[in-house]
Amino acid sequence: MPTIFSRIANGEIPSYRIASDDSYYAFLDINPVAPGHTLVIPRKENDYIFDLSDADYAGLALFAKKVAKALEAAVPCKRIGVAVMGLEVPHTHIHLIPIQKESDMNFFREKLTLSPEEMSGIAAKAEAAFNEMYGNK
Ligand code: AMP
Repeated sequence: MPTIFSRIANGEIPSYRIASDDSYYAFLDINPVAPGHTLVIPRKENDYIFDLSDADYAGLALFAKKVAKALEAAVPCKRIGVAVMGLEVPHTHIHLIPIQKESDMNFFREKLTLSPEEMSGIAAKAEAAFNEMYGNK
């Protein structure tokens, strides 16, 4: 059975897309710890990031780097924080979080509630920045 993140990458479950290619997909986290909190996943199913092959790990990291650059351009922040946990969803994903200060990376505090319009607005800006920087492929 496909994971929830595979179903998101395939378009079966809606998401606020930031970037997509044949191997990777990036979309806004539905329970953000900061505006622009994004998840980057490989389309190939794999639970634990450190079980990826060297090539797949490098490919995911490089795609995440491009997404981080686009987020940096689209969301006011000092830099993009990175986290990997994967305790909730068993499909490898990298959290990219636009941060102003260390506490913006706090996963234990109450999550933000952004309206669908706010989420769409952030995703559209970040996707436009990604496409401008790297083309839409
Ligand atoms: P973790 O597996 O602990 O790294 O956390 C999984 C993350 O996926 C959490 O931050 C969730 O808010 C996020 N998440 C779960 N379901 C969805 C979804 N349908 N769309 C976007 N993000 C999701």
